[in-house]
Amino acid sequence: MTAPASNRLERLWDDSRAADMTEAEKLLYRSNLLGSDKRVTNFGGGNTSAKVMEKDPLTGQMAEVLWVKGSGGDIGSMKLDGFSTLYMDKLKALKGLYRGVAHEDEMVGYLPHCTFALNPRAASIDTPLHAYVPKNHVDHVHSDAIIAIAASVNSKALTAEIFGEDIGWLPWKKPGYELGLWLEKLAVENPGMRGAVLESHGLFTWADDAKDCYLTTLEIINTAAGWLEAKTIGKPAFGGAKLPTLPADERRAVAARLMPVIRGLISKERHKVGHFDDSPAVLEFVGSQMLETLAPMGTSCPDHFLRTKIRPLVVAYDPAKPDLEATLATLPQSVSGYRADYAAYYERCKHPDSPALRDPNAVVYLVPGVGMITFALDRATARISGEFYVNAINVMRGASAVSTYQGLPEQEAFDIEYWLLEEAKLQRMPKPKALAGRVALVTGGAGGIGSATADRLLREGACVMLADIDGAAAETVAAGMAKVYGKDAVRAVQMNVTDEAQVIAAYATTALEFGGVDILVSNAGIASSAPIEQTTLALWNRNMDILSTGYFLVSREAFKVLRTQGIGGSVVFVASKNGLAASPNAAAYCTAKAAEIHLARCLALEGAEAGIRVNVVNPDAVLRGSKIWSGEWLDQRAATYSTDKEGLEEMYLQRSMLKRSVLPEDVAEGVYFFASDLTAKSTGNILNVDAGNKEAFTR
Ligand code: NAD
Repeated sequence: MTAPASNRLERLWDDSRAADMTEAEKLLYRSNLLGSDKRVTNFGGGNTSAKVMEKDPLTGQMAEVLWVKGSGGDIGSMKLDGFSTLYMDKLKALKGLYRGVAHEDEMVGYLPHCTFALNPRAASIDTPLHAYVPKNHVDHVHSDAIIAIAASVNSKALTAEIFGEDIGWLPWKKPGYELGLWLEKLAVENPGMRGAVLESHGLFTWADDAKDCYLTTLEIINTAAGWLEAKTIGKPAFGGAKLPTLPADERRAVAARLMPVIRGLISKERHKVGHFDDSPAVLEFVGSQMLETLAPMGTSCPDHFLRTKIRPLVVAYDPAKPDLEATLATLPQSVSGYRADYAAYYERCKHPDSPALRDPNAVVYLVPGVGMITFALDRATARISGEFYVNAINVMRGASAVSTYQGLPEQEAFDIEYWLLEEAKLQRMPKPKALAGRVALVTGGAGGIGSATADRLLREGACVMLADIDGAAAETVAAGMAKVYGKDAVRAVQMNVTDEAQVIAAYATTALEFGGVDILVSNAGIASSAPIEQTTLALWNRNMDILSTGYFLVSREAFKVLRTQGIGGSVVFVASKNGLAASPNAAAYCTAKAAEIHLARCLALEGAEAGIRVNVVNPDAVLRGSKIWSGEWLDQRAATYSTDKEGLEEMYLQRSMLKRSVLPEDVAEGVYFFASDLTAKSTGNILNVDAGNKEAFTR
């Protein structure tokens, strides 16, 4: 049986490309082809291997070497250096050291002793599952269609029904040395078998040739998908709809209100970043008859629950009779209820040597009629956790249509989650960056100082929303930064700081994209120069609107979100030396900048009890990178001092006490200083970044 054309995995193997490849390169080619289709395996899920004859660098003799995806990594995007390489004869010799299942974890410690050619890539826990299958090529993938069968209560019978003797079946067993031996036994005793379904876990396939192995993997997945489709056609998924789905803009509005509240409740120890998903698969599940029975059963595949926690939190929201305020009021209790349940699960299942209880907060929040919210320590992890839960939804949809879905037994789930080997992996993770988990909104983010600031904050691990009246320019800057810091970390929104509705909307977008906000950099600005008699009311008002009223509006909305979250925050105003020191022919600008500085002081006073710090950075004469210095302001200032741009830069440099030019990066450093916990105990302060100007000395 085959899947319908629309759903069928296509054979992408290109013989002409593969013709000149080494066996290792063919393995990489196959891995990348398989892993880049999420229907084959989830991000980071599964592994692939090849047994290859290589020249031993020590003896010059040919030796059989296992190339297998190393610890961590993703088969879709990995490179050759993502494989570990191990001597097959040494791996076989390990069997003599095996003391039985109770001691299987110690076998991981022997793997480095089998390393071929000093390859530094650490071998994964799954290595024995590849080493002992007596075939040259082995694929292990987590296809949703296969796991749907693997997570059905009668998965053994279903596997036999679908694949006959072609594909074997093994009961649930935590991946490791013992499972490697089980798989070997199955393959040796059934030489005609082309693979095996592992209960609650995934698929193994094997062949003697790289291309055959690739084609076998595709064929088995296509067969499973086709079989599922034929069985489920015309049947409503999850028992049909129970609740309505809200229109897209309402879903987004509800999520934007929920996310900062949840974020505040779960970020007391460490800040978390959110992701929202209202894809059709999610909406179908959260509005279905089976939500309440399936969600608490948890996910099955170990990869799924390691990313999503054992089960999601279902938010008490009724899209048929929406009462968002009531839902918001229930959140503290549901979040603490989840934490208590998680701690109880830990207590029930822990072993004497288990690692300490980890963060007990939910990762996945399901909102009927609205979608799914996920939170993690960084944005990419939040998104990937959501993708994993969509895999789990697909699995539950398939399994519950053809059979009864079963999650992993609680103790088994715990033993994976708190596995000492898993803990060792966590301990090896690099220390989080200074602004990891923080979200910053930078106004005027497309400009010189704004974009330098965004870059500085991104470099420290923050997520950044670039907000600018010039939406297209902000998008361009964001696209450039995404190339450096990843597509998850940076977004752009069109926002005029003088337009109340646009400011409110920009914060809602930020909440939806990242979960809330921690840092406001109020920086958007213009400059104008005119003698007082020639300062029109329009010019005066324009300065006041953007530099004073605009700073007020973006701060007021920031304060609302920061208070909702209840985890403090930092507001940094980019004002100007001209806010402290009077300057000729710029009364409107100077006065508006002075107003900004005083606004910051007032807000520092109001925000302190909520842990909201408000500080000011005062730049002066940042000519490079600044758009201000390319327009009228440049001509006017040049005219005021009877010089040109170069002359002006030199004049400012000579005027400074330190005799140095001020760059956007210098101002960005000051903003970062106030935005970060380096200044956790400072508020109401002013930092001049002006290369020294005695007129601007603060009291
Ligand atoms: P810039 O012109 O390069 O950037 C300013 C950005 O603000 C632009 O991208 C612009 O589109 C945006 N913007 C303007 N009006 C807006 C509005 N109504 N809503 C939203 N965005 C708006 O200038 P810059 O040098 O990077 O200036 C940034 C801040 O630094 C300004 O507040 C400026 O007054 C202040 N400053 C600059 C200097 C300097 O010498 N460059 C000196 C002192 C203070």
